[in-house]
Order: sequence, then C-alpha cells, then structure tokens
Amino acid sequence: MRWWLVCTCVVACTPQPTAEYPGPTYAPPSMAPAMYSATEAGTVVDRKTDFAFDGGRIEIEMRLDGNRVVEVARSRYAVPIVMQWSVGELVNLEPIGPVSGAIYLPAADKPNGVGGAVVLTSYALRIPDAAFNRKLRTHARFGDPQARPEPYPYRLPYQAGKTFTVLQGFHGQFSHRGSNEYAVDFDCPVATSVLAARPGVVVAANAAAQGSGTTSEFLDYARTNFVLILHDDGTLGEYMHLAPSGVRVSIGQRVERGDELALSGNTGYSSTPHLHFQVMTAGSDGLSALSFPFELAVAPNQVEAPVQGRAYPSWE
Ligand SMILES: [Zn+2]
Repeated sequence: MRWWLVCTCVVACTPQPTAEYPGPTYAPPSMAPAMYSATEAGTVVDRKTDFAFDGGRIEIEMRLDGNRVVEVARSRYAVPIVMQWSVGELVNLEPIGPVSGAIYLPAADKPNGVGGAVVLTSYALRIPDAAFNRKLRTHARFGDPQARPEPYPYRLPYQAGKTFTVLQGFHGQFSHRGSNEYAVDFDCPVATSVLAARPGVVVAANAAAQGSGTTSEFLDYARTNFVLILHDDGTLGEYMHLAPSGVRVSIGQRVERGDELALSGNTGYSSTPHLHFQVMTAGSDGLSALSFPFELAVAPNQVEAPVQGRAYPSWE
C-alpha cells in the first residue's frame, strides 16, 4: 500500500473570539457527531501535538483502516478541554462525518496522562491506495463548559503588607471583554510573589514565554506565562502574565489558599507589569472562555467585587 500525508495544524489560541470560524455546535461526548466510532481502528498514519503546555497536550491522530481514514483526538491534561476544529483542502478524502465542530475532550487520569479518545470525523478514500491529504485547524480552551462557580471569598493574591491598585476591573476597556470580561488586573511590579486566591490543583502552566506587546500576536495563549488552578467546583483560577521561568508550583500539586504560585511579570498581551486573575471555564464553542464574576476578601469582614482604581492592602 502506498500513501503519503501532509497536514498542517494551525493553533490560533487567541483569548478573544474571532469571526474566523463559523459557529459550531457543542457536542457532549455521548452526542459526538461521529459516523465512525472506533478510536483504535487501523493504524496510525499521522500524529500531531497541539495546545502543548506544562501539564499535557492534545494529540490528534489520523488512523487508516482499509479505505477509511479516521481523525481521533485525545487530551493528556488532567482537566477537560473543549476543542474547536475544522478540516479543509481535502485531497482524496470523501468526508463521512462533519468537517468542523466543537468537541469535549475528557480529562486524562493524571497530568500528562491518558485521556479518553474522541473521534472527530472520518473519510472514505476516493481512490484506494492513492495519496491523501487535509488541513486541520484547531482552537482549544481549558475547562468543562458546564462548570459553574460556588460562592467563594477569594483572597488578595499577594503577600500581607503589600498594597496594589486595580488597573482594570470587570468589563475593563483595555482588554476585559469577551472571554476576559470578569477579570482583575493588579499593578504588581515584576517578580511580585503571586499567592493562590483559592485552594485547588495545578493542572496547567506555562513559564516559557518571553516579552509582551499589544499587537494581535500577543493574544496567542502561548505568548503568556500562566498558572491554571482547578477549584473544587470545577472552575479554573487563571493567573496570567507571569515572569519568564516564574512558575513556583508543580503540575498536579494541591495548593492551599495563600500558597505561593509564581512570580508576576509582564508577558503576553500586556502594556505594563501586572497580575491578571480570573475565574473561568471553557465556552461551549472551544473558542471563547466563560469568565465569572467573583468577590475578594478585601478586609477581615468585607467581601466585594474588585473596583477599578482602588488600592487593596493585603491583610491575610
Ligand atoms: Zn487583565
């Protein structure tokens, strides 16, 4: 049998929704729109890695089974993911299933572990034993789209005695819209110790990014250093723009309120050193995140939503 395969994955991890993809429909695993359900059929003829950070990656396999080709995705993160995908520029492939969609990838058993495989789609070879080809585009978001927050008094994410001002609060005009609507930015100088605002488990992180800017290239998730904490209610605490090599926790580690997570920085889509914090999960389209309003324990008996322009001394 002769075959060759060339495929291109484009991961455009922009925090803001774009109009690049037509609106897909979220399909829970039990309703996955796959005409072909065998995730282990045939032989792997291509394997790609996407959305790779500390804690895991997404793997996408093309498997050849007779005259069938099947696309299988799998996550190795210990947190669910919603992935939007589309295929195009098909060569010698007749789609049997959909050519685009948004799919739920279940969490792996542990960080960098083995997650359940999900069929994206399948094709029939138009000409058996001839070359085939496709281009695949993906975009992924961490989180279970059905997670919803329990009320929690988040602590100020920096050490007692330090005071920082909220540069941008909920609905902030610079960048707190769409996926980041309910976020807070504190004006921490670079290398400020960032503390856990709430207990949870470290499920993903990036410490490899360098530099910052406000051009669109910096919207790519990989351009920002971050720590992602999975809370007990299934929501995620996202600490962003951290210093290069500034992550101070291990993947899989349980952290308690006030534990040091990282050193703040100025990486990614940012115009000044600061710490961005939000409580979020994946949107059902795999393109957007869903952020949630939250309240901070700003004083021993005072819990309130962060106010832009206000200075908050940490007291805990
Ligand atoms: Zn922000």
